[in-house]
Amino acid sequence: MREIVIVGHGIAGLTAKDTLRRQGFDGHITIIGNDLHPPYSRPALSKAALSPTMDLSDTTLPPSSSLATQISETVVGLNTDSQFVTVASGDQYFYDGLVIANGTHARRFTDHEEEYTLRTRDDAQKLRARLQEQPAIIVVGGGPLGMEIASGATSLGCDVTLVHQGLPMCAQVGPVIAGFLAQKAVENGVKIVDALASSVTRSSAEQFTVELDNGREIYAPVVASAIGDSPNIQWLQDSDLLTDGKLVTDSRGRVTDNIVAAGDIACFNGIRTPIWTSAIEQAKTAAGGLLLGNEAPELSFQSYFWTDQFGVNVKVSGPIPHNGTPHIIEGSLESGSALLHWSESNSAASINYRIPVPRLHKLAKSLAPTA
Ligand SMILES: Cc1cc2nc3c(=O)[nH]c(=O)nc-3n(C[C@H](O)[C@H](O)[C@H](O)COP(=O)(O)OP(=O)(O)OC[C@H]3O[C@@H](n4cnc5c(N)ncnc54)[C@H](O)[C@@H]3O)c2cc1C
Repeated sequence: MREIVIVGHGIAGLTAKDTLRRQGFDGHITIIGNDLHPPYSRPALSKAALSPTMDLSDTTLPPSSSLATQISETVVGLNTDSQFVTVASGDQYFYDGLVIANGTHARRFTDHEEEYTLRTRDDAQKLRARLQEQPAIIVVGGGPLGMEIASGATSLGCDVTLVHQGLPMCAQVGPVIAGFLAQKAVENGVKIVDALASSVTRSSAEQFTVELDNGREIYAPVVASAIGDSPNIQWLQDSDLLTDGKLVTDSRGRVTDNIVAAGDIACFNGIRTPIWTSAIEQAKTAAGGLLLGNEAPELSFQSYFWTDQFGVNVKVSGPIPHNGTPHIIEGSLESGSALLHWSESNSAASINYRIPVPRLHKLAKSLAPTA
């Protein structure tokens, strides 16, 4: 293998490139990406970047020294027989090995410019500029992204309504921490509407109508949709790589013997896990899978997730703690700072607690102390 092409220059693509070099690959690497900004941290976009004082260029990732040819283009097609990808300008890039790491795009209800989504640095720039005008805003979706946008919007002085069916964040952090976060959201002035948004339409020149599944309608001039993402698989539609519309890999990231995938786009070993640390670990594994095949280690890592919202920092190590009451190891929820452990799932979490991530991982795996 002398020529490797990487599609996507987000964290998964960059990690794959660095790992290939670290593992001794001395052939040529071409990395193709269509975001004109230098690579940046996406998690920072919904956190610090919605604050009025942060310079968006502070989200730029440190430069990598591993050698590769960078191409700013959109990949539009793949020919697996002749082993090349085609970019929008018509150029073709031949490969012996291909890494697919071109992420996802935000889902949305309309094409209207006042419906905002947050996936790219340009999205963050536009959303922040609009929120600084302090419009009333409806945030659709109470996952981490929706709650972080709601948090940023309230801190900028907006009147915020958040629409989510059930307890926001429950699917990501379980009911105990989700309850704590919802309380903080309400204390910060967010109106939480427990319903599913069945449609969003620009009903007049000034406002959107958000129709709820309980028959109610709510209105605002601005909507931010945080309703999930869809893999960027358009350019793979004519290839034979998709299974039921999904890019599925084995446990080493392989789609075929010479094509691997990693990050948000991939159903890695059958499961899509669109979080930052997964993208990194999957990319390391996939780079090994491409170079070493069955000799490469399979994906094995402790899942980790964090969020910052309403002045609260939450870190979770291990499976999402849905059930069981956590044992509070240190601190308390009342004081707003706590270290928690779920023995049922071997998960640990911290709330506003200065704990290094490796220690949190260790804690998650340890047996819960008896209450
Ligand atoms: C606002 C926001 C906040 C987040 N916060 C957190 C968090 O707190 N914690 C957490 O764990 N995760 C968080 N995530 C998720 C995390 O950022 C992603 O899991 C991670 O960035 C995925 O990396 P990736 O490299 O797979 O994809 P991406 O980062 O999407 O990179 C894909 C790259 O491919 C490029 N590309 C796309 N299509 C093409 C094409 N056809 N041709 C060429 N290039 C293409 C794109 O421009 C992009 O640069 C957040 C995501 C967002 C959007």
